[in-house]
Amino acid sequence: PRGRKTNVTIARAEGQPLDAKPRLLTEMFEATAARHPEWNAIDFLGAKTSWRALKAQVDRVAAGLQGLGLQVGGRVGLCLPNTPHYPILFLAVLKAGGVVVNINPLYVERELRHLMADSGLDIVATCDLPDVHARVSAIASELGVRHVVTCPIAEGLPWRKQIAYRLLRRRDIAPAVVDKRHLPFAKLASWAGLITPVDLVPDALAVLQYTGGTTGHPKAAMLSHANLVAQADAAALHIKSSDQHQARVMGVLPLFHVFALTTVLGVALRIGAEMILLPRFELKQALKSMARTRPTYLPAVPTIFHAIAKVAERQPLDLSTIETCISGGAPLPAEVHEAFTRHTGGRLVEGYGLSEASPIITCNPIDDLGKAGSAGRPFPGTLIEIRDTEAPHALKMLGEPGEICARGPQVMRGYWNRPEDTRQVFCEGALRTGDVGYLDEDGYLFIIDRIKDVILCGGYNVYPRVIEEALYEHPAVAEAVVVGIPHPYRGQCPKAYVTLKPDRLVAEADLLAFLRDKVSKIELPAAVEIRESLPKTLIGKLSKKELVAEELQKAAER
Ligand code: AMP
Repeated sequence: PRGRKTNVTIARAEGQPLDAKPRLLTEMFEATAARHPEWNAIDFLGAKTSWRALKAQVDRVAAGLQGLGLQVGGRVGLCLPNTPHYPILFLAVLKAGGVVVNINPLYVERELRHLMADSGLDIVATCDLPDVHARVSAIASELGVRHVVTCPIAEGLPWRKQIAYRLLRRRDIAPAVVDKRHLPFAKLASWAGLITPVDLVPDALAVLQYTGGTTGHPKAAMLSHANLVAQADAAALHIKSSDQHQARVMGVLPLFHVFALTTVLGVALRIGAEMILLPRFELKQALKSMARTRPTYLPAVPTIFHAIAKVAERQPLDLSTIETCISGGAPLPAEVHEAFTRHTGGRLVEGYGLSEASPIITCNPIDDLGKAGSAGRPFPGTLIEIRDTEAPHALKMLGEPGEICARGPQVMRGYWNRPEDTRQVFCEGALRTGDVGYLDEDGYLFIIDRIKDVILCGGYNVYPRVIEEALYEHPAVAEAVVVGIPHPYRGQCPKAYVTLKPDRLVAEADLLAFLRDKVSKIELPAAVEIRESLPKTLIGKLSKKELVAEELQKAAER
C-alpha cells in the first residue's frame, strides 16, 4: 500500500511476491527425491531413511492403498505420532489420489467419533499404542470404516531401542487383530502391485484439517495441494540451504498439527531437508536428539521455547547449528522470547496463522527479528487487511484495531461439507481469522484479542464449550462456564465455574475427577469453582467477561 497515493492509510499490507507455480505436493516431493536421492530424509531416533528409500516406500504403500480400494478423493485418517509411518502414509495417500485426514491420537472418544464420522473415512491408519489402537479400531468398526492399518511405532529402530520403547510403555503392544478389516503397515509396505496413475490438478483436495474455527464445533478446513505447496514455498524462503548445505528440521511438534505439517514436512519436501522426528515432545529426549543431530531449523510452540530456555539458564546448551527458530500457534510471551534468546543465543521469530490458511499468514523477518510484540509482516504471497469487526465490508485505517483478514495462495477453499460456515468465514474473498489486531505503518501486525471463544493452552486450542458440555453431564451441575486464565508459561489454561442444582452437593475435586474421563488432558481445567450464582448478560446468557476480568485482576495482584 505504501507508495500508492490513495488508500495510503487503509489497513492493508502485502508480503513479497511468491512467484512459484501451483503444483501437486507429490510432484514437489518427487522432484526433491530425484534431486537428492542420497540425502537423508528421515532420522527417527537414529534410524535413517534416504529420499530414495522414502520414494520407493511411498510408491509401494500408494499401490497398497489402491489395492485396498482407495479411490481418488477417498479419505484416509492418520492417527499417528511422529514416526516414519506418518510421512510415508501421508505422501502415499496423496500419490494414490486420496485425501489425508489428520487426527490427534490423544483425542477422547467423542472427538474421535465426530472426526471419523464427519470426514467419512475409507481407511484409518493408527499406531500400536494399546489405548489409541483400541479406541480407533472400536470406532472404525462402529462406523464401518473399511480398513484399519496398524503401524508399530518402534518399527525400524535398533533392537535395544525397541525394547526400551516397550518397557517405557510398560504394556504390550496392541494385539495384532487378524481379520478382513485390520492389516499391519508391513503388508502395505511390501505391496507387490503397481500404482495406477491418477490425474489430479493442484487445486485437488489434499488434507482435511480439523479445527474449532470460530464456533468451537470441530469442522475441517479443506487444504489443497496448491495451498500446501504455496505454504512450503513461502516457508522455505526462511531457511538457508543449497545443493551443498542440507537443512535439518527438528520435528518435535506433531505432524498432524498443521503448523508442523507445513514447517517440518512441507519445508523438507520443498528443499530436501532431513526431518528429525520425535514421537512425542519430551524435553530431555528432545535435547539429547538435538545434540546428536544438530538441526538447523526448529519450529515449535512458545511452551517448548520456554522449556528449552529454562534448561539453558542452568546449563550450557549448544544450539549453535540452529539458524532459525520459529514460534507459532499461540502468542510468544516477551519474557519467553527474551529468555530464549539470552540463554541459547538462538534466533527466534514469531509467526501467526490458523488452520484455514495452512497455517502461516504473517511472520517476523529472520534477518532483523522484526518488531517486539508483533506477529510480523504478511507472509510471501499474502495480503493482510483489517476489517471492521461489526461491519466487515468496511476496511479500517492503519493503527486501528479490527478483524484480521487474509488472502493468499495458502488460504483454504472452505470447510468440508459446511457451506454456511464457509460463507461466513469469507468477506469479499478474504478469510476472516476471528482474531483482532491492527497493522502499523511498516505493515507489521499486532494481535490484541480474539473474537473466537477459544483458550490457547501451550499452543493447543481448547474450546470452553467442550468442557462445559462435559460438566453439564454431571447430575449435580446446573450451570457451567469455562474461561481461560493466565498461566505462567502455557499462556492460558481453562478454569471452570459451576452452580449446582438445588439440594445437590458435590465437591470441586469430584467434578474434576468426573472431567478426567470426559476431556483430554490439555482440556482438564486447572480448577473447578462452585459458586452460588454466575454472571449473566442482559438476555440471561451466561457471561464470561466478568469472570475473565476477575481472574486477570487476581493474576495482577499475585
Ligand atoms: P489453529 O487453527 O488451531 O491453528 O489456531 C489458530 C489460532 O491460534 C489463531 O486464530 C489465533 O487465535 C491463535 N494464534 C496462532 N498464532 C498466534 C500468534 N503468534 N499470536 C497470537 N495468536 C496466535
